[in-house]
Amino acid sequence: MSTAVSTTPMHNRVQEFVSRPRKMFVDGKWVEAASGKTFPTYNPATGEVLAQVAEGDREDIDRAVKAARRAFDSGPWHEMTPSQRGRVIWKLGDLIEEHLEEFAQLESLDNGKPLSVARIADVPLAADLFHYMAGWATKIEGNTIPISASSRHVKYLAYTRREPVGVVGQIIPWNFPLLMAAWKLGPALATGCTVVLKPAEQTPLSALLLAELIAEAGFPDGVVNVVPGYGETAGAALASHPDVDKIAFTGSTEVGRLILQAAAGNLKKVSLELGGKSPNLVFADADMKATIPGAASAIFFNHGQCCCAGSRLYIEQSIFDHVVHGVAEQAKKIKLGPGFDPDTSMGPLVSEEQMNRVCSYLESGLHEGAEAVVGGHKRPGAGYFVEPTVMVKTKPDMKVVREEIFGPVVCAMPFRDVDKLIAEANQSEYGLAAAVWTRDISKAHRIAEKLRAGTVWINCYNVFDAALPFGGYKQSGWGREMGHESLELYTEVKAVCAAI
Ligand code: NAP
Ligand code: MG
Repeated sequence: MSTAVSTTPMHNRVQEFVSRPRKMFVDGKWVEAASGKTFPTYNPATGEVLAQVAEGDREDIDRAVKAARRAFDSGPWHEMTPSQRGRVIWKLGDLIEEHLEEFAQLESLDNGKPLSVARIADVPLAADLFHYMAGWATKIEGNTIPISASSRHVKYLAYTRREPVGVVGQIIPWNFPLLMAAWKLGPALATGCTVVLKPAEQTPLSALLLAELIAEAGFPDGVVNVVPGYGETAGAALASHPDVDKIAFTGSTEVGRLILQAAAGNLKKVSLELGGKSPNLVFADADMKATIPGAASAIFFNHGQCCCAGSRLYIEQSIFDHVVHGVAEQAKKIKLGPGFDPDTSMGPLVSEEQMNRVCSYLESGLHEGAEAVVGGHKRPGAGYFVEPTVMVKTKPDMKVVREEIFGPVVCAMPFRDVDKLIAEANQSEYGLAAAVWTRDISKAHRIAEKLRAGTVWINCYNVFDAALPFGGYKQSGWGREMGHESLELYTEVKAVCAAI
């Protein structure tokens, strides 16, 4: 295996991990695909094959669902107390911390992100999510409910129980491979569900390392199954499987619709975390020292491959030139390079397909009359590098303003009137996130109320916490991940009513 010139030595364990074809994890065992097929995952910094991975499809999904069903209906998981469940989930968080460097390296190699970012964001946040969710295992409670059907002659005792929804299929994207696995698995395991997880074809490796730790942490066989493969085969089989009780999906709005259709067969429960085109509102009274780097990192963090990226930057007219210049200067300072180079602040996009997609948006914007103050092109040579780009002179109906680019491209637009600004910010089919930068706290909270988005940041951006619910209004999704809200996605409520 070869990688781009890198100044960070590859961890022995990582070298070993990518040197052999990786199997899938079904019913506590490492197995080949039923078809015997494998598929390559690539290093986006070089375009070279990084590792071969078992290619799961319908038959493998079926085996995994059967294992998850058995583990749910009978067996040790079923009999474990909430406290015991909490302990193994906590242990998994500890094990992720112990293997932080291996995870960070795999994530950087497979996805392209800087190793330095994976070390401080992806991996610790994933560990923290399991630690947070471990605490919930013992706190999933129902209510006792005084009901009016009780009379002098008959008394009723009525209460609710929150029970696990059952076998859950989880399909995740490639932008934060380990972290998305954690967001999905944490609440499912805390509530006592069993899982079949399908990672993205571009980034299957960290989920497979996670499966090794899941076995080590003490989860019984079949509780978590990891089946890598393609969306149209493995993913579609999972979404349509008649014995899956719930499907949780993170990815594009387009595939989200397919998931919904596939789920209709057995009316399985569905939760969706989809795309975004998040407005970032900058007022003239904002603290520019924080706002300018904040607005730049809102779009450039993770190369703009964030569902909540601040991709529509609305700037009050009087400071428009100043902020655009400042964000462009930040963009110029970003050093593109392979994730393993310690000087790199932005790696390649995840794939050639994604790079071409982002470039076609750049071309469309420039063709329709927008201007790139900085960037605007792919970087020539190997790897899928695209320059951080600030576009101005856009119009509200341009594709670059309306559609999710999922790359390091921000459209900067001036505003004068607050009411018009809010209307424009809300004029999107998406509603995932938004931000407001101002020193006027009242104005900030009044605007936060009016923005139709699942998250509103004030004087900050991309702040995530295991305790803070995350998800979308409108076509950005159904349901919330993280926080206690996520537990609702994985539980059914049972009302028990007894005549006493
Ligand atoms: P995608 O194409 O929708 O893929 C996401 C996942 O769905 C992958 O595992 C994919 O498998 C699978 N898939 C594809 N077609 C499928 C089908 N017909 N049936 C079942 N599964 C299928 O999304 P992407 O382009 O990889 O990821 C970027 C998108 O994700 C962006 O739109 C972004 O906004 C969104 N996203 C949202 C959030 C959030 O929390 N709201 C977080 C991160 C990303 P393959 O890998 O084989 O294609
Ligand atoms: Mg890859």
